[in-house]
Amino acid sequence: MMTQVNGQKTVSSEANEILEALGVDWRDFTKGDVAARTPITSELIGRIPGTSRPEADATIRAAHSSFLEWRTVPAPQRGELVRILGEELRAHKAELGRLVTIEAGKINSEGLGEVQEMIDICTFAAGLSRQLWGLTIATERRDHRMMETWHPLGVTGIISAFNFPVAVWAWNAALALVCGNSIVWKPSEKTPFCALAVQALLERAISRFGNAPRTLASLLIGGREMGEALVDNPLVPVVSATGSTAMGRQVASRLASRFARSILELGGNNAAIVCPSADLDLTLRAVAFAAMGTAGQRCTTLRRLIVHESIYDQFIERLEQVYASVNVGDPREPETLVGPLIDGSAFAAMQTALNEAQDSGGRISGGSRIKDKFPAETFYVRPALVEMPHQTETVRRETFAPILYVLRYRDFEDAVRVHNDVPQGLASSVFTNDLREAERFLSASGSDCGIANVNIGPSGAEIGGAFGGEKETGGGREAGSDVWKSYMRRATNTVNYGSTLPLSQGVRFDIS
Ligand code: NAD
Repeated sequence: MMTQVNGQKTVSSEANEILEALGVDWRDFTKGDVAARTPITSELIGRIPGTSRPEADATIRAAHSSFLEWRTVPAPQRGELVRILGEELRAHKAELGRLVTIEAGKINSEGLGEVQEMIDICTFAAGLSRQLWGLTIATERRDHRMMETWHPLGVTGIISAFNFPVAVWAWNAALALVCGNSIVWKPSEKTPFCALAVQALLERAISRFGNAPRTLASLLIGGREMGEALVDNPLVPVVSATGSTAMGRQVASRLASRFARSILELGGNNAAIVCPSADLDLTLRAVAFAAMGTAGQRCTTLRRLIVHESIYDQFIERLEQVYASVNVGDPREPETLVGPLIDGSAFAAMQTALNEAQDSGGRISGGSRIKDKFPAETFYVRPALVEMPHQTETVRRETFAPILYVLRYRDFEDAVRVHNDVPQGLASSVFTNDLREAERFLSASGSDCGIANVNIGPSGAEIGGAFGGEKETGGGREAGSDVWKSYMRRATNTVNYGSTLPLSQGVRFDIS
């Protein structure tokens, strides 16, 4: 593995140092079929042996045994493990955030932000461990009590995407662990070292905790076949799957065929409506971050902007200036706002979408690859702003790259109709100072998305709320609110403390 170039530290040697600090010996990962490259320079970070199918099945069996033990540990004690995990993450935030930057190409502050999200969900879950409560419900029968109790469910499978290589695991893992489940994680094959590092931190937390079962949390390394190993295993009653809609379609039907639960977090095609009364300075900043941040590779990235005709020209002119001047570059540099695309296939998908948009009358600014400053196998692009005459099939599709399609509207109801006229339903925004428009957007006949915001862009959700979307986004919810219920089994219990046996609905069944 390359370590020095002209006396400069290479990205891969920095990755090795970070991995060591996080408790992963990179020397163990020089051979293997899963090759991880940094999108910053395309250097090889390392090679990890993939998990075989028999190994995956044995891992899931072991996770099931751990579940049988872990479910009997009182929930607040389980919360203590997650609290300790939060401490480990706080102590290693800088290194793990940097590893996210190196492996996924996010700018530094976003890499750190992802780890902060992990810390936040650990804090939330530790508190939640004392609040896994059920209802006591009025019963129609004398001397009876009816109540709901929530029990651990089983092995929780987690399949995650490359673009949130650590936070998505934490949303699921922190809740699943306090709910009394064991976890098996199939991370993206594009970001396996982030997963190894997180697993090492969790193992450190488990050993500090003292008496957790040994195989409470495990990893499966590989591509879709490892995802399938989780999806098809009858010992896994719930799988949380984050990724493309194409992946979700396959995972959902396989899980449904064996009546297992799915929590699906799939593609988005998020839009914002900019109304005549909007604060345009605020809107400009919000749109810039939502559309270009993470190089357009967030599920909640702003992909469609629907602007009122009365402010269209002035707003788009300002937006074009921001697009032309935004700093695209090495995501480790403090002045960089847009890092590289993850790989060549992301770039190819971007070019296909731009060509299609142009063919249907789109006016494109930006979108070209920046080759001269960066190594050959990297994919740095200028974010693209595309004015469209109407919402074409290309616009209705999620292209996971920094392309913002802009559409003009006259009538607010019409803007909402265009907004909803896509297959996906993840995140949405309206920029307005008109109360009626804001409330209409949030109402039953407004945005049809799982996330609807006013005067905030669609990306960058906090963990306290339920996160997820409708339609082809999959309908799943993760993180805060009452999402924990998806990881538990609900039981309705009725207790008779009297000496007669009244039947419900007045049914009589008297035996002599
Ligand atoms: P992807 O669908 O290519 O892969 C995601 C994960 O699924 C990977 O771990 C992959 O190995 C696995 N996988 C793929 N096919 C599978 C199958 N048939 N069975 C089981 N597992 C399978 O997605 P990606 O390119 O890594 O990520 C980008 C996509 O993820 C975008 O569409 C984005 O919108 C979406 N995403 C959604 C959310 C959300 O919360 N809604 C969050 C992040 C990313």
